[in-house]
Amino acid sequence: MSGFDYDLIIVGGGLVGGSLALALRNSPLRVAVVEALSEDERRSSPAGRRALALAQGSAQILNQLGIWAAIEPAATPIAHIHVSDRGHFGKTHIGAEREGVSALGYIATARDIEDRIVAALGQGSADLLHPARVIGLRAGDDRICVTLKHGESHQNLTARLIVGADGGNSSVRKLLDIGQSMREYGQTAIVVEVSTERDHRCTAYERFTPSGPLALLPLGKKRCSVVWTLSNADAEELMGLPESMFLDTLQETFGYWVGRLALVSSRERFPLRLIQAARMTDRRVVLIGNAVHQLHPVAGQGFNLGLRDVAQLAEMLVRRTEFGEDIGDEAFLKSYATARKKDLDSVVFFTDGLVRLFSNSFPPLALARNLGLLALDCWPGAKQLLARHAMGLARRIPRFG
Ligand SMILES: Cc1cc2nc3c(=O)[nH]c(=O)nc-3n(C[C@H](O)[C@H](O)[C@H](O)COP(=O)(O)OP(=O)(O)OC[C@H]3O[C@@H](n4cnc5c(N)ncnc54)[C@H](O)[C@@H]3O)c2cc1C
Repeated sequence: MSGFDYDLIIVGGGLVGGSLALALRNSPLRVAVVEALSEDERRSSPAGRRALALAQGSAQILNQLGIWAAIEPAATPIAHIHVSDRGHFGKTHIGAEREGVSALGYIATARDIEDRIVAALGQGSADLLHPARVIGLRAGDDRICVTLKHGESHQNLTARLIVGADGGNSSVRKLLDIGQSMREYGQTAIVVEVSTERDHRCTAYERFTPSGPLALLPLGKKRCSVVWTLSNADAEELMGLPESMFLDTLQETFGYWVGRLALVSSRERFPLRLIQAARMTDRRVVLIGNAVHQLHPVAGQGFNLGLRDVAQLAEMLVRRTEFGEDIGDEAFLKSYATARKKDLDSVVFFTDGLVRLFSNSFPPLALARNLGLLALDCWPGAKQLLARHAMGLARRIPRFG
């Protein structure tokens, strides 16, 4: 470790915190990343197997981070998105060709992305402190003091700004007593990899079922990642079934769009809830990624949104540093929060609305959503708008390189 006073300490070296450290690697800022997991724990965590849908805008940000060229060969491009409502008439299709792009987005596992981030961080100048947890924060006028716990020993560090990127259960948020709103969806996502009998033709399927949405995301040749959202009780029951019975239920629910499915990994489960921090900033602290917004995965937006937090914050930090100004002062943090608010509110509203609309079998609502899907399919303008949002291209992408 090079010293105990930094410009910036990032708490949480996951997908979002690690990306921010990379975004700042060419800046003169002295950066430390504090991560609770050891490298072995990170590598063996089953959470790394979840497949993430990356918007085109996210690929552009990862490119600015210098790691897209390494991620792309392991990622599957999405050529088509197919949305349907099981047992109803509504469905819609969005195609890359019709939108004039080579891919609508990409699917990669969280581990593929994390591995590239960790490898690039290893060659950068940020100090990586792990395994270590933040257990105390005390803000002063021009510095903030952070207490870390490594095993049984404690250590104090200071910085001009702390970035809390420590996930949905954020310790930074809790230590600062920042309120949070939490919506329990009463749902769990079961994630499992399957092989497919027929070629998926790079199609991401989103199938809404009475028990919740079921996504089949293309992940390599004749391979897909299933993200199946169910009520907690149904998920519990399905996790308890022998593999063959689980597969039969999956096949029956999804149908035969890609022929017969076979399981190629064990099942993992993720409890789903919406967590929103009451505010993004505090004295000399800013929260990003899941620490400020943990979303339902139905629209595949959590990491995409977190990357946009990273790009915005990095752009503003780089500019501020060029002018030699304090990166932790209140006016600066306020301007960051203002810049991010609209994007964040609209994604939370859209994702939460989608969960409620498509997890409900109340007949008038089912009719309305099917008419909506049908209208979307017939109205190219609306579909194009949706596609641009899904691709993460509806907004300017900040530049920080
Ligand atoms: C089933 C599922 C499917 C998903 N699909 C998509 C998708 O298709 N597209 C998409 O964009 N998003 C998707 N998401 C969301 C995406 O995974 C998250 O938005 C993303 O992982 C958030 O990254 P993060 O770095 O903010 O948080 P995390 O990934 O939770 O990382 C937080 C890090 O902080 C560390 N940490 C925690 N506490 C401390 C502490 N006290 N001190 C130090 N370190 C600490 C943790 O060890 C961890 O490494 C999905 C999520 C799930 C569960």
